[in-house]
Amino acid sequence: VSVAPALELRNISASYGSTAVLRDVSLTVAPGSVTALIGPNGAGKTTSLRVASGLMRPSAGEVFVGGTDVTRASAARRAKGGMCHVPEGRGVYRNLTVRENLLMQSNAAGAKETIETATSVFPRLGERLSQKAGTLSGGEQQMLALSAAYVANPKLVLVDEPSLGLAPIIVDLVFDFLKTLREKDVALLLVDQYALRTLAIADHAYVLRRGEIVYDGPASALLQGNMFEKYIGEG
Ligand code: ATP
Repeated sequence: VSVAPALELRNISASYGSTAVLRDVSLTVAPGSVTALIGPNGAGKTTSLRVASGLMRPSAGEVFVGGTDVTRASAARRAKGGMCHVPEGRGVYRNLTVRENLLMQSNAAGAKETIETATSVFPRLGERLSQKAGTLSGGEQQMLALSAAYVANPKLVLVDEPSLGLAPIIVDLVFDFLKTLREKDVALLLVDQYALRTLAIADHAYVLRRGEIVYDGPASALLQGNMFEKYIGEG
């Protein structure tokens, strides 16, 4: 029995104006698995996530979620269907409090349950429920943004550079959190600058270079022999 992928990008091309950024990119994320999308700056990782979540229209190709073609569906529709995109630079409402942000992220659960869930994962947020999100530290803002991946009860989570600009101890916390998502049977597509750590929690990996997939295989294989140097090392 074959199960439809949680996410499939099929032959996606995308451009900004006349500049092609993705060329014939195909990738799949299996249900309940962690997939890493690695590549140097400007390779097109963020663009791939934006195409997946509906923030950007591809010039060619299709996006499937759970076997359904969502290429023409809005970002809001995809979110309602169980997709959660945590963008680079933290998708929080700076002028709303932590509590208000959490309630906006929540899909269906009651307010009390939402707050309890988020604060059990990130106790630090529980001490700051009435604080404006814009006044949180960078790490706290990232925790708040990531808590959407829990309280929205998504089936598929796209996370873009969650450790960017964070202190090492907070980076540990972020990766611990990402590991707990797989225990919840959530499919995760992860982009992060820490290639080694990302690969260590991933099942499958894609390496993107200048808008094209140059590696598609097990994450563990990239950690063997000279594979890391070959595909990632020189950046
Ligand atoms: P990084 O690791 O640096 O975040 P990335 O792999 O996520 O890079 P993208 O952000 O997808 O790469 O960008 C791919 C290419 O598209 C880059 O050359 C970038 O300069 C270009 N680009 C991104 N956004 C725009 C935009 N709004 N207008 C024009 N070009 C853009």
